[in-house]
Amino acid sequence: MRQPIRSLNDILFNLFANEKYADPQENKNVWAINEGISRLNMRRYEWQTVKAQKEHECIRGHKIKVGDIYCKNSAGGGWGNDWKFCLSCAAMILYFLDVEKMPPYTSTHWNYAENESVLIEEK
Ligand SMILES: [Zn+2]
Repeated sequence: MRQPIRSLNDILFNLFANEKYADPQENKNVWAINEGISRLNMRRYEWQTVKAQKEHECIRGHKIKVGDIYCKNSAGGGWGNDWKFCLSCAAMILYFLDVEKMPPYTSTHWNYAENESVLIEEK
């Protein structure tokens, strides 16, 4: 049985490991990406999520369709040289950067029953 509450890491892992089956644009996935990059940005602001106004290709060659949310990283250089990541690729990076262990920005888990994120403090 699927657990009604999953951690940020679980959501990020599923997003890239089950790339072919996951819908990256689902609420829970968009939450996980935004939560992850917000945690990174508390240290140094480099990441943002944007909605595609035109078609793009991510840094690993995945197609980003018009209307899709994707990530930009400004560490690549100046204006116009941003690196683009589809949400699956961004999830992989966030997972391996271990954002789960960083202080929460707004929340820590996804509640499937409520279809919203929740903050669960470690005891
Ligand atoms: Zn990609």
